[in-house]
Amino acid sequence: MFNEFTKKVNTKNYINLNLSITVLLLFIIFAQNKYMSIEVKNITKTYGEQKALDNVSFSVNKGEIVGFLGPNGAGKSTLMKILTTYLTSDEGSASVNGFDVSSAQKSVQQSVGYLPEHNPLYLDLYVREYLEFSADVHKTDKSRIEEVITLTGLTPECHKKIGELSKGYRQRVGLATALLHNPDVLILDEPTTGLDPNQLVEIRELIKNIGKDKTVFLSTHIMQEVEAICDRIIIINKGQIVEDALIADLGKNLEKVFREKTK
Ligand code: ADP
Repeated sequence: MFNEFTKKVNTKNYINLNLSITVLLLFIIFAQNKYMSIEVKNITKTYGEQKALDNVSFSVNKGEIVGFLGPNGAGKSTLMKILTTYLTSDEGSASVNGFDVSSAQKSVQQSVGYLPEHNPLYLDLYVREYLEFSADVHKTDKSRIEEVITLTGLTPECHKKIGELSKGYRQRVGLATALLHNPDVLILDEPTTGLDPNQLVEIRELIKNIGKDKTVFLSTHIMQEVEAICDRIIIINKGQIVEDALIADLGKNLEKVFREKTK
């Protein structure tokens, strides 16, 4: 009788425990999905007298490839630097992968791969040597070096010093560096500036390919590029967001939209 009772209690406990674990797992999955990849709320940034960002808000869903457009001086690089924790904003908040850029900088840096506008590279180092150096600096496992070399198509050039590479291959080194820690989000500041038409197509293909399993937020001045790579555009002008739309919904020439919104 007592044994029968103990058995029943144990079975009940076992079912309850299983139920709790299932609920906990569902909660974790829900909590992870609930976060936008990028969330920007009322960000303002001023350099001295110059207001670079004026109450900027938008969000980017997981897996989206978003083109961030705007004339020179509109505030694109400033916002990207805030999202990658290189700069702090004066007002507002932002998060990447659910991590706040001001209170969880380390987690943000682990979530983001950043290709800055003037991709700084050590020209005297060999490609693999530079990637090893970058892995050391970012305390990243070196086991991914070969993978990113293959992924970015660097294999035929990786015996060269960076200073001997064409601009297109230097951009690949920058992308490989950004991808070393396998981040969920890529922030690319004008990744194709200065490339010749062939390099341009190759880097676009590469970004599109990488974007299959990552969120990509990239700035560019090239409208064909946006049409070729992006799902959505966000246009900024004089520090303010003036357009945020899916390319499929725009229904008109992107160049025209850009000119209308930034005149
Ligand atoms: P974009 O990337 O769209 O060209 P930026 O974010 O670089 O624009 O610049 C936005 C504005 O902020 C511009 O007017 C620029 O001159 C100014 N700015 C950017 N960086 C600095 C800085 N370090 N000091 C002062 N002004 C700056």
